[in-house]
Amino acid sequence: MAVKQQTGSVLVLVSLVLVLVLLLQTCRSRAEDLDWDQNGYVLYCPCMGRFGNQADHFLGSLAFAKMLNRTLAVPPWIVYRHHTPPYTNVHVSYSEFFQLEALSAYHRVVSLEDFMEKLAPKHWPSGQRRAYCFETAAQRSSDKKSCPMKDGNPFGPFWDYVGVEFEKSVLFGGISFSAHHQTQWMKKFPPSEHPVLALPGAPAHFPVIEEHVGLQRYVVWSDKMVEEGERHISTLLTRPYVGIHLRIGIDWQNACKMLQSGEAGPHFMASPQCVGYSRQTALPLTMNMCLPDLPEIRRAVKLWVKKTSATSVFIATDSESHSREIEKLLKGKVKVVSLQPDSAQMDLYILGRSDHFIGNCVSSFSAFVKRERDVHRLPSSFFGLDKPGKLNQKEEL
Ligand code: GDP
Ligand code: MN
Repeated sequence: MAVKQQTGSVLVLVSLVLVLVLLLQTCRSRAEDLDWDQNGYVLYCPCMGRFGNQADHFLGSLAFAKMLNRTLAVPPWIVYRHHTPPYTNVHVSYSEFFQLEALSAYHRVVSLEDFMEKLAPKHWPSGQRRAYCFETAAQRSSDKKSCPMKDGNPFGPFWDYVGVEFEKSVLFGGISFSAHHQTQWMKKFPPSEHPVLALPGAPAHFPVIEEHVGLQRYVVWSDKMVEEGERHISTLLTRPYVGIHLRIGIDWQNACKMLQSGEAGPHFMASPQCVGYSRQTALPLTMNMCLPDLPEIRRAVKLWVKKTSATSVFIATDSESHSREIEKLLKGKVKVVSLQPDSAQMDLYILGRSDHFIGNCVSSFSAFVKRERDVHRLPSSFFGLDKPGKLNQKEEL
């Protein structure tokens, strides 16, 4: 009897294991089914700035890959931990925050992680990995002929995370990432000889150029982020709510000093979103647009809470929230909330879904929210600028 039972359970176990192995194999072969794109790939490190900068660069890189008709290997986001142990960077897959599939409506993409796992071993094996960079960038290397792919942070940790060593460098010059040079790129680097263009930085301009602003529509929050975001909104806030982005921390105070000293003109970081993209016709960039003081924060919040009959205010901040001052300003009739502990992406989500958004003209973090809201035709203003002009986005919208 006992023996019989034992053989029975062993049989069940064996068949379970068999089913598991079979399942794993189907998943595996499906995953390995990723086809190699004969038109080649673009790989890059989002090595400049934090999330907002990386997002601007991402839009331009997406456009660059499309221009060359190469698949974009979408890199993970680099998250810096300057103040929390163990201080090493975290690499967060694109799809943690956004839907990779949504990008396909615009152009062919693969996550860099999948590229490395499923395509690189066969098609881009170690020993054949070339780096591509500007001659001027290679000037920084000791032999003046190597691309500085892994020099310093975040460069080294990024390619280590991806698991890449570069064997050779290919230098270029007299060419830019803009559409003017499309044919030069195609001629210089045909995919048959240069299947993988791996670049030390984004093949894009910062801030994002006007033509690419509308690509934001393909950056769609992941289901997980939507779920969590909506939960926060329904538990913390009541509609209508005004979302504000306070970019006022010490690094920003220092940056905005360049405006006061005259070192920076109207085109300063993300400011084209407010002053316009043309240098000839750029509006002046005021100090309140860069670093709003408390009276300006109060003025703008009061104005938009009144205009929208808001019942709550959501504050996202890089430092202080000024929630007491804002509560007092609104005489306790309006709920004032910020997320604790804060998360950059969750703040972006909640700001993006607000009934009115007040952003910072110079911040690319604010710019992310503004672009997303423009896609969904939701209203936005800025500190120091209540009525931002309509930008020229006919093509993408
Ligand atoms: P920019 O410097 O404002 O152009 O934008 P970046 O995104 O490049 O760098 C600012 C960084 O500061 C963000 O990526 C966040 O890590 C942090 N930060 C700035 N504002 C906020 C905020 O409102 N909420 C949170 N959670 N983080 C913020
Ligand atoms: Mn920054």
